[in-house]
Amino acid sequence: MLETSLSFKKRSALRDEHYRWKIPIPFILADSLDLNAKGVILKAFEGFHLRSCVKFKPYAGEKSYIRFLKLNGCWSTIGDTKAGQNLSIGAGCDHKAIVIHEILHALGFLHEQTRTDRDDYVKIWWNHVLPNQAHNFNKYGRNYLTDLNTTYDYESIMHYGPSSFTKNSSLATITTNIPEFNGIIGQRLDFSTSDIERLNRMYNCTRSLTLLDQCDFESADLCGLVQEPRDDAVWLHKKNEPMEQNHTQRQECKDAGHFMYFNTSCGKQGDTAVLESRILHPTRNYHCLQYFFKMTGSPQDRLAVWIKKDDGTGKIRRLIKVRTFQGDNDHNWKIAHVNFRCQKKFRFLFYGLKGNPDDSNGGIFIDDLTLSEAQCPRAVWLIRGFSRLLTTASSDLSITSPRFYSQEGYGFGITVAPRGSRDSAFANYTRISFHLVSGENDGILEWPALHRQVTITVLDQNPNAKKRMSAERSFTTDTTQVFPDKNNSSRWGKPSLLGKFDTSCNCSRNGGWGWSKFISHALLRRKNFLKNGDLIIFAEFEGILERCYIEEGASLSSATLPPHHSGHFGVFVPLHEQDLPSIHPREHCDPNPCQNGGICLNNQGDVSCRYPYGSSYHLCVINITLTMMMIQR
Ligand SMILES: [Zn+2]
Repeated sequence: MLETSLSFKKRSALRDEHYRWKIPIPFILADSLDLNAKGVILKAFEGFHLRSCVKFKPYAGEKSYIRFLKLNGCWSTIGDTKAGQNLSIGAGCDHKAIVIHEILHALGFLHEQTRTDRDDYVKIWWNHVLPNQAHNFNKYGRNYLTDLNTTYDYESIMHYGPSSFTKNSSLATITTNIPEFNGIIGQRLDFSTSDIERLNRMYNCTRSLTLLDQCDFESADLCGLVQEPRDDAVWLHKKNEPMEQNHTQRQECKDAGHFMYFNTSCGKQGDTAVLESRILHPTRNYHCLQYFFKMTGSPQDRLAVWIKKDDGTGKIRRLIKVRTFQGDNDHNWKIAHVNFRCQKKFRFLFYGLKGNPDDSNGGIFIDDLTLSEAQCPRAVWLIRGFSRLLTTASSDLSITSPRFYSQEGYGFGITVAPRGSRDSAFANYTRISFHLVSGENDGILEWPALHRQVTITVLDQNPNAKKRMSAERSFTTDTTQVFPDKNNSSRWGKPSLLGKFDTSCNCSRNGGWGWSKFISHALLRRKNFLKNGDLIIFAEFEGILERCYIEEGASLSSATLPPHHSGHFGVFVPLHEQDLPSIHPREHCDPNPCQNGGICLNNQGDVSCRYPYGSSYHLCVINITLTMMMIQR
């Protein structure tokens, strides 16, 4: 009876197209949200923009919209209700993967284990399920939901973890028929490959909004990159030789592995080779080119990145040099990030220059490039030999990064303890924390540095940027984070007054704040976090409004905002609570009363809770243990 009364159907994705959104999707970030949640939501949007055509834009009076707010728990209604709807990012929900999970509900996706065919893949242990929660493990027929012609995905961000709704945390409620996947279900890192596929199929996407180009050089067509015909030498498309492991290659894949190579050990000094991209058509004005490179030849060899722009006549020939890398004695793979701006069509170029062939036994290597319409990370830290440290380092070893500077000018650093801390509860995890460092701008900056967001990312080095499932965590600096042994001074005060002097940088470092279980050793080894044994960490320290300026495109001009809200607050609070349109439903589901097992359904404007077939969306935070900690010196 319930099923037929609903026009709203479920399996892993709603079949009824009435509940699909028109793109772009208007959003409101309500005042009630924590500052950290606002920053995390904006980062989650970027995840959608990178992987699909699903775009979010600040609310400007539309009938349908998603209002993000802080209520009890993390939950969402499913599909576009056509009347504006709430999505709660409650306490403890301000993690990118959880926000992505809730947005996917709002876009029309349900939990993976509700699929009709799930019994072929997982077993539900009904006697371990909490009383009155069995409905969370219901499955649904094909007439309700569509699987969008994708197979069951253990790695989906929409899958429950093993102990969801369990009576006792030692008893699994859901196990996988192939045992290897028991450690994978419930992952809350990022979209899985199938999640991306389904999202793109449901919303008929033909391209990503912000990923302009990428190449792992595995295919002979070089992803459309071409050699410039006039140069003296050439970039070779090379396959791995035994002693040359390329960057794409994973240890277990002996066959794969191509890269571009410019041999600088022959020919003459000054010979050049140019590798040029196809013509690219940007939609934003800022770009980040990321690639891996290695220079094993003369220290005088050079690798430069150039941009070729429209010269004003429609011809792409105006050259601008963006960045030059010079050879040195470090012959390892490195990661490069090059920021540039360009509003119209352009090409990017790799320009290799031979320094001194008599002094070279190698050349210049390029692999795994990604060009996205995003800002490059402010801090990039590559820790060599990290795989080895995981097994051989002493259990209390911690490593401190060089000093980085935020966009505002604050000095900061990262500390990593590969094997966690001595406390056995944290064994088998890597601990990562953030600290402020004294720097050249300290005399002019605001202290303490409050209400800034720290984001730390351990990079999944999958060559395909869409498929990266990096581990990302954020917190926002506030007045509660203090040094108890220093009269409760703020942790974000001046490092020259509060920190410890470090002779290696000739600077002072404050004590850190971070996560004792940032990432498990098992996860580090499972995905591409440790290519060539190296770990790569990105870090940001930014005012959240500052990022909004960066985010703003045409859609953020004051003209598109309600007239009484103009300027830079637009992206955050384009509407205050009292300004909500009168069409906003204030019926049963606002705030959601269905938190104890029901879901809020909207049947042609009739909003109601459904229990027997429902799922409890506020219980989506599962198996995420984020232990904040203080590191005392
Ligand atoms: Zn959920």
